[in-house]
Amino acid sequence: MAYSVPDLPYDYAALEPHIDEQTMRVHHDKHHQAYVDKANAALEGTEWADKDVDDVLRNLDQLPDDIRTAVRNNAGGHSNHSFFWQIMSPDGGGEPDGDLRSAIDDAFGSFDSFKDEFKTAGVNRFGSGWSWLVHDGSGLAVVSTANQDSPVSDGQTPLLGVDVWEHAYYLKYQNKRPDYIDAWWNVVNWPEVASRFSAAG
Ligand code: MN
Repeated sequence: MAYSVPDLPYDYAALEPHIDEQTMRVHHDKHHQAYVDKANAALEGTEWADKDVDDVLRNLDQLPDDIRTAVRNNAGGHSNHSFFWQIMSPDGGGEPDGDLRSAIDDAFGSFDSFKDEFKTAGVNRFGSGWSWLVHDGSGLAVVSTANQDSPVSDGQTPLLGVDVWEHAYYLKYQNKRPDYIDAWWNVVNWPEVASRFSAAG
């Protein structure tokens, strides 16, 4: 079955004031839809058309040469954005607890050190991309990807990610990407991140 854009699990305005309604409308309805449409067009008629998007992203090297870049960009965009809507919540923010918190403290020294590293990766991503907290098979790590590249393609499991493309913040924050990331912590859905951590561990 062809990919489709999942409904947001909350209203477009639910992440206000941190993420504004207009940004959410354009981001979800226009940008994510475009990734889905282009991924479907690239995969149509191939054996990969009915595969789970992350299975496709794990096997980019097996795709036909003439569609590999389009799939990498657009199936990546579909996977990344489907993930992104889930790891935000109007009830978000605060700090993680339990096993996830312990793992973050062990890997980064403290929660604040983790936040600094994650933010720095996002701020320093030149051009468009993402900053991620991933499980790399042995433990937690902060990584950054360009464009719509997914950590899944590198064998990593994304646990948390922030979209630092200008379309994610420009209407409200203009050029101030650091301010956007600072505000974004207020909508992080830590229970969802913890659930993904449990599944990855
Ligand atoms: Mn985006």
